[in-house]
Amino acid sequence: MKKNIILLGPPGAGKGTVGSKLSELWGLLLISSGDLLREHLKKGTDSGIRAKKYMDRGELVPDDIVVAMVAKEMSKPLCARGVIMDGFPRTLSQAAMLDRIFDSEDEVRVIYLEADDDFLVNRLSLRRVCDSCGKIYHLVNLPPKREGLCDLCGGKLVQRDDDREEIIRRRLEVYRKLTAPLIEYYRDKEILSVVPGNGRLEDTINEIKKIVKW
Ligand code: ADP
Ligand code: ZN
Repeated sequence: MKKNIILLGPPGAGKGTVGSKLSELWGLLLISSGDLLREHLKKGTDSGIRAKKYMDRGELVPDDIVVAMVAKEMSKPLCARGVIMDGFPRTLSQAAMLDRIFDSEDEVRVIYLEADDDFLVNRLSLRRVCDSCGKIYHLVNLPPKREGLCDLCGGKLVQRDDDREEIIRRRLEVYRKLTAPLIEYYRDKEILSVVPGNGRLEDTINEIKKIVKW
């Protein structure tokens, strides 16, 4: 029986940061659809090239591209114990597809990280990521020890192209329209828990540990 967590919430609610912490804690593979897309982009694969124009605009990448990447990740032996999903599913049709991949005896819990738009815009515009290992920083709340350099690997910290204010606003709109309906979808299945996404990482993790007692 696998244990799976789906992290749901607007861009900037902390899905990536919380996801990597939970992945460490529980030894479950973290699958981030955004990271998968960015890897493809870096490598210049056909899917990456097709995805780029959507990502640059803050729009969703077509389901067929994302679903193929996620399904491939999920078939890896590393997923034998379960997965933590960050950024997937993002539409009702992706959710239906994921339902078909999970086995009926698998445990699935959805954590909805909630935060308001002003908070999210602030957090995303001050976010920096390591160019080589992907670790996430915040210029004010979680600054690196040495300016511009990753604590873990010494890599260069960069701002994601889509972390500029006008693109952030667009991502939030797309989220409200296409992704937010998943809240009701999972609430109806009685597997959804709401956790504040604007608190300290430690508090968020403790809250999740109280909800998911594995
Ligand atoms: P965030 O959640 O902060 O917006 P992500 O790294 O998850 O950042 O996503 C970045 C971009 O990648 C999105 O704006 C979208 O273009 C694309 N993307 C990521 N996941 C999906 C998905 N499940 N379906 C469609 N597009 C996606
Ligand atoms: Zn790094």
